[in-house]
Amino acid sequence: MSETPTDQLWQLSASEASRRLADRQISSVDLTESCLDRIAEVDDRISAYITVTADLARQQAADADRRIAAGEATPLTGLPMQIKDLLCTNGVATTCASRMLAEYVPVYDATAVSRLREQGAVLLGKGNMDEFGMGSSTENSAFFPTRNPWDTARVPGGSSGGSAAAVAAGAAPFALGTDTGGSIRQPASFCGVTGLKPTYGRVSRYGLVAYASSLDQVGPIARDAADCALILQAIAGHDPRDATSLPDPVPDYPAALTGDIKGLRLGVPSEYFAEGMDSGVRAAVTAAIEQLADLGAEIREVSLPTTEYALAGYYIIAPSECSANLARYDGVKYGYSYQDDGPGDVDMWEAMERTRQHGFGPEVKRRIMLGAFALSSGYYDAYYHKAQQVRTLIRQDFARVFEEVDALAAPVSPVTAFPIGDRTDDPVRMYLVDVYTLPVNMAGLPAMSIPCGFVRSNTDQGLPVGLQLIGPHLSEGRLLNIAHTYQQATAWHQQRPEI
Ligand code: GLN
Repeated sequence: MSETPTDQLWQLSASEASRRLADRQISSVDLTESCLDRIAEVDDRISAYITVTADLARQQAADADRRIAAGEATPLTGLPMQIKDLLCTNGVATTCASRMLAEYVPVYDATAVSRLREQGAVLLGKGNMDEFGMGSSTENSAFFPTRNPWDTARVPGGSSGGSAAAVAAGAAPFALGTDTGGSIRQPASFCGVTGLKPTYGRVSRYGLVAYASSLDQVGPIARDAADCALILQAIAGHDPRDATSLPDPVPDYPAALTGDIKGLRLGVPSEYFAEGMDSGVRAAVTAAIEQLADLGAEIREVSLPTTEYALAGYYIIAPSECSANLARYDGVKYGYSYQDDGPGDVDMWEAMERTRQHGFGPEVKRRIMLGAFALSSGYYDAYYHKAQQVRTLIRQDFARVFEEVDALAAPVSPVTAFPIGDRTDDPVRMYLVDVYTLPVNMAGLPAMSIPCGFVRSNTDQGLPVGLQLIGPHLSEGRLLNIAHTYQQATAWHQQRPEI
């Protein structure tokens, strides 16, 4: 790829593009134009973007080139990116894929976004997603579903499906997603790209529209672990505007990529290989673990016995927090209002009711009702309090195994990308897709998804499978190094869909 034609620059990984920008081999204007052309070429087939900010991107790219010429560049200067539409972008619509916020234009950037912008990254546009982050397939977007670039009859996963699909299709070198119960890792696995959900508090949540505040985290989706390290470096760190952001110093993540995992103690949780798992997923994940052993990791079987309660616990805690967070959409303070839209002669209560009735989609309403019920007097102890106890047990499970092992390896999801419409009528079947990602959020741990193989499907290329790496709090550098070491020895992450 040393002589990439200008119109093929979209093919470069973020790290490679960063090197060439720094060496002045390519310009940000050419790179950005190539990405915009690629979006125009593929996005009518995958619908990964809600908004494309072409003019803004061109301006920002020209600024980045000036900055590089002046010798004031950072590794991110001039790199184009997509941002999930759940993160506020100053002056650019931030819809959360909801009718409620279809017209909402924030007057500030989320901290993760402003840190990338300060370093000179270029905004290509905003990524499609499940409404407010609630879903596993991007079919809950109020606007349109995103399609998987490996097979456009299938879902890209969710909720950051637009971000993962864009990166897989070359419609963005990298993206920022968010992960409350799997929304970075699961779409990354369905689309064959690399995603990192950082430790809770590692990246500021300021300007991230809240779904479940005790679980939400922002993180990168990119082509490989080296790219994720580059992006995490830019966005991690304490933020006085987010009281839950961690004060711990940010290590040098790219420097953590030593390519050496000899002696690493890697746990394999038996509960993550349960009945009902796709046999192709099992085979690919098992082979990846063997490969990690060949690279020097010492494999140990471990047990996380509380795993079976994680899904039930999550679907009390996340909806409870959601019902509190989404109470702000009353048609007065933000976004859609039935009063403005409707006849105007209804009273306050009716206007509020109708605002919510028209503004929210069915899954969001289901979550709000579940949460309001779980928190209501008489049910609080039976549901919410019980779920918090489950959460404690899950944390304790992980803490115990991390006394014995340095990291865990497991599948991201028991399945690969499923056909559009396949699970929309059965919420529990949809929720089960995240059974191996939710426990990590309940414990606030960092975890990654990396491509580790393909399963056969009705298309020639097959469907990507993701390996999940989970570590103790603030072990992002270690996880990135395991992923990087694996990616140095394998080519799964270099496979691109034919689209
Ligand atoms: N699918 C899970 C849910 O719907 C997780 C989504 C997410 O991580 N935002 O809650």
